[in-house]
Amino acid sequence: MLSTFNRNEYLEKMAGNPLDLFIIGGGITGAGIALDATVRGLKVGLVDMQDFAGGTSSKSTKLVHGGLRYLKQFEVKIVAEVGKERAIVYENAPHVTTPEKMMLPIYKGGTFGRFSTSLGLKVYDFLAGVKKEERRVMFSRKETLAKEPLLKKEGLKGSGYYVEYRTDDARLTIEVIKEASDRGALAVNYAKVEDLIYNQKKKLIGVRVVDRLTKKEYSIFAKKIVNAAGPWVDTIRERDHSKKGKHLHLTKGVHIVIDGKRFPMKQSVYFDTTNGDKRMLFVIPREGKVYAGTTDTTYSRWPIDPKPTAEDRDYILDAINGMFPSVHLTSDDVESSWAGVRPLIQEEGKSPSEISRKDEIFISRSGLISIAGGKLTGYRKMAERVVDEVAAQLHREGGKTYPACRTAHIELSGGHFGGSTHYATYVQEQKQIGIGLGLTEKEAEELAKKYGTNIGELFGYIQMNQEEAKKYQLPPALLAAVHYALTHEMILSPVDYFTRRSGMTLFSIQSARKWAQPVTDYMAEQLQWSDQQTKEYARELEAAFNEASPYETTSDVSETKRV
Ligand SMILES: Cc1cc2nc3c(=O)[nH]c(=O)nc-3n(C[C@H](O)[C@H](O)[C@H](O)COP(=O)(O)OP(=O)(O)OC[C@H]3O[C@@H](n4cnc5c(N)ncnc54)[C@H](O)[C@@H]3O)c2cc1C
Repeated sequence: MLSTFNRNEYLEKMAGNPLDLFIIGGGITGAGIALDATVRGLKVGLVDMQDFAGGTSSKSTKLVHGGLRYLKQFEVKIVAEVGKERAIVYENAPHVTTPEKMMLPIYKGGTFGRFSTSLGLKVYDFLAGVKKEERRVMFSRKETLAKEPLLKKEGLKGSGYYVEYRTDDARLTIEVIKEASDRGALAVNYAKVEDLIYNQKKKLIGVRVVDRLTKKEYSIFAKKIVNAAGPWVDTIRERDHSKKGKHLHLTKGVHIVIDGKRFPMKQSVYFDTTNGDKRMLFVIPREGKVYAGTTDTTYSRWPIDPKPTAEDRDYILDAINGMFPSVHLTSDDVESSWAGVRPLIQEEGKSPSEISRKDEIFISRSGLISIAGGKLTGYRKMAERVVDEVAAQLHREGGKTYPACRTAHIELSGGHFGGSTHYATYVQEQKQIGIGLGLTEKEAEELAKKYGTNIGELFGYIQMNQEEAKKYQLPPALLAAVHYALTHEMILSPVDYFTRRSGMTLFSIQSARKWAQPVTDYMAEQLQWSDQQTKEYARELEAAFNEASPYETTSDVSETKRV
């Protein structure tokens, strides 16, 4: 179980006996590798120097998508692979992946006309193997405006309408790690690989890890070591003296969040920006808010907590105001924002948006296996390629044979419905149980949808912790979610809960501010923090809120922290 209270034990266990595979990085890439390898029977350890998904994997556009725009770049192989993956990710985790109808408006003089949009979407459906009922539909101008009346009317000819999937990237990552952990993988957050350990033949045999909480150092040995450090892949390769040839090109992407009452759009839209830079932006309604992005600019700083700048924010606002001319959004309308860094593989002479999103494995002379590039959507296939390589090497070196990848049919934690078709009925049944426990209909449904087949644990905590909820003056559902995050999702700080386990910092910042103090107090008691520690965690949370807040966005990003 991925409990906060098991961290020490897991680190001791990793250090106690050599592992088959050690993974550096607990973003979606490392998480996927941990699950695949554990399912195949390998003894696996994983650490992340921040929280799980604390890097890029909580800062994406939050879409499980085939990458329609890559068709423009003729990246047919990528579109075919990630397009097909969408259905698999959905099937194995319908509680964190929701089908989302996407509209592609067609304008006079735009990049694509009616014919090319229709053809492009048809090719997309074909490559991605989309089932019949979800295939693209072409709408007239009238039908388009009926679906989204706020769209610019001038020059509008119609639209293409197709399916993508919306996800919560940080929750998808944590559900993958929880499933791996339930199956025996040892995973610990806030533990940093500080050094690599080699034998006399200069072969990589282990890592030196420092627990950032206790400052204790561990030497962990493994037959194979995978570097899934996302934007830090090259930092680990440098340490291994193997950063030669291909290297990373980091690009920053920003999103902003606006209240749905201020921007009452009904429909997700994917559109050409109107400033002539030939880029495309998503605008997506979600939980009473609308979020929009992304930018794509070269980034050359240390990639911890990249910050959105006023320039990034204004670029997105201008694009929205160009496509939805009646809304007149200003910077005051931006409730929160986030920035992420893409770990892309450098391609000479290409602009950030043109660089391919394909993934690649680098194997160094010492044996370090690094994986870079790729997409959240394709995490399972990336993991398959890495674990195939690990299994082949272990076979060559020790003669042991491991089975082929099985994760296409492995449901993630919370996704054990026996197929996505049972999800809706399950949610309805659990909603009734929640109402019986005193939750409102909305609360019960939201919890059941979010936690899927793990909801029983949450409901148990609601029953058990009525007194605690009163003591901390917290809604019982919120207290139960924090308690669950402590016992099953390894949170170490209030930021972990508010930003990555619940997404409240991004999509419900007022509510997050309202409950910040009692949640911090509850965690302080559970984790036995001193007054000083409690104050520090409260300060850290306030800083996270301020960073997400538009009033704090600034072009002065010189003070990036290092861990
Ligand atoms: C703005 C933006 C929008 C995107 N939108 C989408 C989208 O909609 N759909 C999609 O499919 N993809 C999208 N992507 C791409 C996707 O988010 C990334 O490909 C993916 O999250 C990368 O995951 P990762 O695990 O490789 O890296 P990360 O999530 O960054 O994980 C790497 C981890 O390694 C850890 N680490 C580094 N060094 C060490 C060390 N020394 N010791 C221990 N741990 C270490 C870090 O702390 C980090 O958590 C988007 C990316 C961006 C930036």
